[in-house]
Amino acid sequence: MITDVHTHYWTPEHQSPPWTDGLSRVARKHAAVEIDRVTVDSYLRQVSPAERTIVFGLQAAAAGMWVPNDAVVSFVEAVGGQTVGFMSVDPTRADAVEEVERCHQDLGLVGIKLGPIYQGTSPLHPLYLRVFSAAERLGLPVMIHQGAIFTDSGRLRDASPALLDDIALAFPRLRMIIAHLGHPWIYETAVVMRRHPHVYADTSALPNRPTVLAHALTAVKEYGVLDKVLFGSDSPMVGAASAVEALHRIAAHTQRHAITPITDDDLHDLLHRPSFDLLGISAPSAPIPRPEDSITPTPEGTTRDHAHR
Ligand SMILES: [Zn+2]
Repeated sequence: MITDVHTHYWTPEHQSPPWTDGLSRVARKHAAVEIDRVTVDSYLRQVSPAERTIVFGLQAAAAGMWVPNDAVVSFVEAVGGQTVGFMSVDPTRADAVEEVERCHQDLGLVGIKLGPIYQGTSPLHPLYLRVFSAAERLGLPVMIHQGAIFTDSGRLRDASPALLDDIALAFPRLRMIIAHLGHPWIYETAVVMRRHPHVYADTSALPNRPTVLAHALTAVKEYGVLDKVLFGSDSPMVGAASAVEALHRIAAHTQRHAITPITDDDLHDLLHRPSFDLLGISAPSAPIPRPEDSITPTPEGTTRDHAHR
């Protein structure tokens, strides 16, 4: 079973500059759908063949992106299956911790998406520390964008994955996923993962930068933490099927040219990582609905899922 830990929900109503300016420059070659509006239909097409997914909005006033958490809950309900939702809060807002508690208790959202550089400050700011503290107390994993971004909000120095070493030291029970393997600071990500048992990273967005992804995977293997890399697409910018194909191409490339190749077994394990279990998320029982084109009637009149693998 493939789990996609990194998918987005948003519509044009949630976006304004500088976000919209940045999004217009984002590469689209791995997207089969419009990238500024996520619908249930486009979502199901983009996340196939993943059978479990984590979806989130983003609340980042400085970057011009604000998806209400209630809208994420409605979207998760509409998608159904084994899709779970993460909340997002902007720690620079006075009510951020209250919103974490509301989303956890009342809305059933099971993790938190943060992006300090999108939110215009450092993850070490006291306003962030209170959000990390709440996440650890409530057992909520944090998906954190600690890496380069496509907008001009914030400062790159606040986006370094090495800063998360301080967070992991202060909150040792907190589970964190460093989005996009912390690109371009993939070596920082590798050594932070190696020091902290609850720090993971995901492969999302990197099919657009195959050189970075190839280096990142071989580097984390050399540091002994490839088993903490989770599959993520970055839908709608990168579809899961396209991301899986890119990973196969990259693994094959490393098998020919890298000093430390990513073997077929390494790739199989990465794609089938039990990410919900690692993050402490219990999966809803229903299977994720398939997009129309992957379901064909069988002679018995039932349906057979061709995308299942
Ligand atoms: Zn993303």
